[in-house]
Amino acid sequence: MKDYYIKDLTDRIGEEVEMLGWAYRKRRHGKLVFIVIRDSTGIIQASVKRENVDEESFEEAKTCDIEASVYVKGELKEDSRAPGGLELSCKEFKIVSPSPDFPIQEDTGPEVLLDIRHMTLRSIDSRMAMRAKMGVIQGARDFFEKKGFTEVYAPIFVGVAGEGGGTLFSLDYFGRKAYLSQTAQLHLEAAIFQFENVYSLTPSFRAEKSRTRRHLTEFYHLEAEMAWCEEDENERIEEELVTHICNFVGERYAEELRHFGQDPKYYLDMEPKFERITYDEAISILQSKGVGIEFGSDFGFEEEKVLTEDFEHPFFVKNFPKGIKSFYMKQKGDRAVCADLEAPGGYGEIIGGSQREDDLNLLVERLLREGEKLENYEWYLDLRRYGSVPHSGFGLGIERLLRWILKLEHIRDCCLFPRTPARIYP
Ligand code: ATP
Ligand code: MG
Repeated sequence: MKDYYIKDLTDRIGEEVEMLGWAYRKRRHGKLVFIVIRDSTGIIQASVKRENVDEESFEEAKTCDIEASVYVKGELKEDSRAPGGLELSCKEFKIVSPSPDFPIQEDTGPEVLLDIRHMTLRSIDSRMAMRAKMGVIQGARDFFEKKGFTEVYAPIFVGVAGEGGGTLFSLDYFGRKAYLSQTAQLHLEAAIFQFENVYSLTPSFRAEKSRTRRHLTEFYHLEAEMAWCEEDENERIEEELVTHICNFVGERYAEELRHFGQDPKYYLDMEPKFERITYDEAISILQSKGVGIEFGSDFGFEEEKVLTEDFEHPFFVKNFPKGIKSFYMKQKGDRAVCADLEAPGGYGEIIGGSQREDDLNLLVERLLREGEKLENYEWYLDLRRYGSVPHSGFGLGIERLLRWILKLEHIRDCCLFPRTPARIYP
């Protein structure tokens, strides 16, 4: 590993330094070659002047391709004209390994860029987005640790659907049918009887046929489940979590935010008190904006886009009709005891949460009505047979939250290797 990285060079102005990295950009003016070098922490301009280096170094600099790995040695100077304000005046320049015909050009189209994602992930956008993603996850873990939650690890191979059969990926499990988990929720519900307040971060898989800018087939799902917890407290935890993550990213990932044109102050100043509207109010807002939606329909991408466009902060939508929500949610009259958290500015849902049904008979009734085989859910029903408690929980899509924080065009830009219906390579 390297002893120091490009970000560490600001302390070493005037010294002779060595650096390893990749050629990011190159310009040549006669006997002077400028090569911008990239590493995992930033970029620095290296100037290779014929009179300062031996012939071999100058030849290598001249012929160096974009994305070749390189070694440079030279004196570090301040230079306001150079990107980042520093310039390395080279005494030695070596190509570690060449990169002939690097496949990305200025005019490479978006589909091709995805075909060669293993190459495009070298871009600065990609570094900034992936680092901010790490920040979101660090902020989340920090929150749950401070709240005294236990992190648990739920299985990915599962025997029953957690979120409806329509988006299940099935597979052959030694001759039996199994699925890739859509949610850890049911297993987290079992875990609260031991740990009371738990969370998990696992990939969830959904065979989403609708291709939207906010659906992946594989995403990172942050889920929490709390015993002795009803809807109000569930929402409070959610708003505190999202606020904590935003504060955390605003503080530690300001450079990444600024890179995408976002003001860290918005995230630093966020306060854990989000507006709440009802499903009925949401329908009225949509109808008043000319969206042809009737009471009883769920919101899709288009509806959430319009619904959220005039809000400045995340907000909850509560009291959905029970018919459009899952069997495991507690019900009051014709409503499910649930709330979705919507990101403002057209971004839409980032969390789905609810109080869970803790009554055995009501749960059995609903499963039968939905045509499910009870035998598949016996273990889940046991949770209501042995010491059932009021409990609530939620699931947050990490890439959904990140997309909103960075204001990225497409959710696939939130993934190192995005998985969508059309894409499983590379
Ligand atoms: P949507 O209506 O947007 O498809 P959902 O109601 O299916 O979402 P939930 O089942 O409540 O979502 O899942 C909890 C959270 O997981 C969502 O709020 C969202 O942040 C995230 N999520 C769900 N499906 C996807 C997906 N296909 N890609 C990325 N994130 C997702
Ligand atoms: Mg969905």
